Amino acid sequence: MSSVRREHAAPQLPIWAAVFLTLICVAIFAMSSWREWSTRNAELKNTEIDMANLAQSLAQHAADTFELADTVLNGVVHRLEVDGNGREAITRLQTFIDMRRPKLGRIRGLFVYDETGRWLATTEPVSLNGLNNSDREYFRRHAESDDRGLLIGRPVKSRSGGQWIITASKRFNHPDGSFAGVVLATVDVAYFVKFFDRFDLGKKGAVSLLSADGIMLARSPDDGTYVGRDLSNTPLFKDRAARPASGAYYFTSPLDGVQRLSFYRTSEHFPLLILATKAQDEVLAPWRKDAAVRMTFVLALLLIIAVIGVFFVRQLQVRQRMAAELVAKEADFRLLAEESSDMVTRIGMDERIQYVSPSSSRVVGWPPEQLMGTPALAGVNAEDLPRVKALVAALKRGEEEDARIVYRSRHREKAEVWIESTMRVTREYETGAINGVVAISRDMTEHKDLEQKLSSLATLDGLTGIANRRHFDEQLEREWARARRDGTPLSLLMIDVDHFKKYNDRYGHQAGDVCLKSVAQALAAAARRPADVAARYGGEEFILLLPDTDRAGCELMGSKIRDSLAVLGIDHQANLPSQKVTVSIGGAIAFVQDAKASSSWLVEAADRALYVAKDEGRDRLGSGLTTATR
Ligand code: GH3
Ligand code: MG
Ligand code: MG
Repeated sequence: MSSVRREHAAPQLPIWAAVFLTLICVAIFAMSSWREWSTRNAELKNTEIDMANLAQSLAQHAADTFELADTVLNGVVHRLEVDGNGREAITRLQTFIDMRRPKLGRIRGLFVYDETGRWLATTEPVSLNGLNNSDREYFRRHAESDDRGLLIGRPVKSRSGGQWIITASKRFNHPDGSFAGVVLATVDVAYFVKFFDRFDLGKKGAVSLLSADGIMLARSPDDGTYVGRDLSNTPLFKDRAARPASGAYYFTSPLDGVQRLSFYRTSEHFPLLILATKAQDEVLAPWRKDAAVRMTFVLALLLIIAVIGVFFVRQLQVRQRMAAELVAKEADFRLLAEESSDMVTRIGMDERIQYVSPSSSRVVGWPPEQLMGTPALAGVNAEDLPRVKALVAALKRGEEEDARIVYRSRHREKAEVWIESTMRVTREYETGAINGVVAISRDMTEHKDLEQKLSSLATLDGLTGIANRRHFDEQLEREWARARRDGTPLSLLMIDVDHFKKYNDRYGHQAGDVCLKSVAQALAAAARRPADVAARYGGEEFILLLPDTDRAGCELMGSKIRDSLAVLGIDHQANLPSQKVTVSIGGAIAFVQDAKASSSWLVEAADRALYVAKDEGRDRLGSGLTTATR
């Protein structure tokens, strides 16, 4: 029953295989995608770290610059507050700042304005007359606020040089604490831009220095449109309060629509912010290229798995279908075999029985379980065995595809049975190699008996059981030819029952038949040599063919026949004078020499001699016995 369960479970196998393969493909794809996504994120993270480091350094650099400005301005403020801004003091101050000028480095210029905005001193080589900076924003803010800290202003176009500058300014006071004027240090925007240019951030990357309230102070690269721009409306500045002092900042640039990843850092001491950005596209470009190659490999692999998988699943389905068909077929054939009255045997290449149907009990007398595994040819009659063996060998060698053979075989209860076997080779399903023979065998014994009976009927006379006229004719031809070949005499006796019509009339036709049988037996007994043929020629006439017999032999045979009839002594009232059944005999002897001579001469001569015997008075071998050379 397990086989039945297997048949039911099996159809799902291809589905499971397909599901399994799909899962493998999905898993490989998911793992690869996840790996790529992780690599991508790691790439972004690394860039973030790079940007953070860069922002940290640049913020430090900016702070250092303004720190320097602060220090320088502090020195100037101190002098002004100590010395005042009288004419002499200013002249000394001018000398002082002129002296300091070469050491200012990144600080472009120093400026001193009095409380009305008038220029008092500067490092710039310009005439101070008529110049007034009271309109500048930083000036107004210092005039209004008594804060003495450093004020970093919006970038402005220099009045002295015309280039963009960032201002760092401080207020100085009169001794009474009232507003006395402003000292100012400038830093060229170009200085920062040139410094920022040193860092390679890709084509779309940028470094920006902004004031804490969102004014662009310097940017690299700079196309001349950025400086002074107000970015306080961008998310970075809008939520400034909620943001930490530094952090990653992803945004889509409102200027070029490029997705950027950046890191910002605010200076601890000054209201400054450095923003280092890279285009996400550019950051991810190398990864994208590698990932594309890797994913192409993965997809190719998946494609191969899928193709092999489809092929595999198809094969599985085909095989399963074939197996199911085979099982069904086998069930059918088994049913046929088991129900068949013929014995179905499957013989392996070792000539042992692998399967035999239940009819074996009927055909050879043994039940299947006792035959299983035994040599298939064990019961074959020794005389027939070589024939059967040769045929099986020919089948196994593939010389014959099928064959039919009749042979004798042992039967468990009957002495021997005739078996007719139809054999056919069987082949391996896949390789086509011969793997055995299937034989369908039936009991032919009755048929064989009948056959024998039929063949003897063809040669024997139905009433008397001795040879018939047809058989005699054949034998005559053969012996005639042999006599010519061997040069031996061939004799023939024609025997006719005397007055047999009267016998019938007197004793009845049935008694006549019995009488004819007796005469026939007597004749058969007389013809003792193997080559002698006693035959019923027709009616109450018999014939005796005697090869290699001469005249003397004929005469001897004639008297032998008459003697044996006399011994039988069958009553025949009408046959005078003996009143017993007697016969008249005509004989002829031939020495055959001529190849063209006909055997019919012998019959005719014997017939003529029989007439002579009748004429001479019956119950004798007629004297018309002829010896002739033909
Ligand atoms: P003759 O002595 O001259 O031979 O006389 P006959 O009566 O024997 O000769 P005939 O040829 O006239 O008759 C033969 C008879 O044999 C005729 C037939 O009734 C009989 N007869 C022939 N065949 C059979 C047979 O098979 N059975 C029986 N009972 N009688 C047969
Ligand atoms: Mg007759
Ligand atoms: Mg007769």
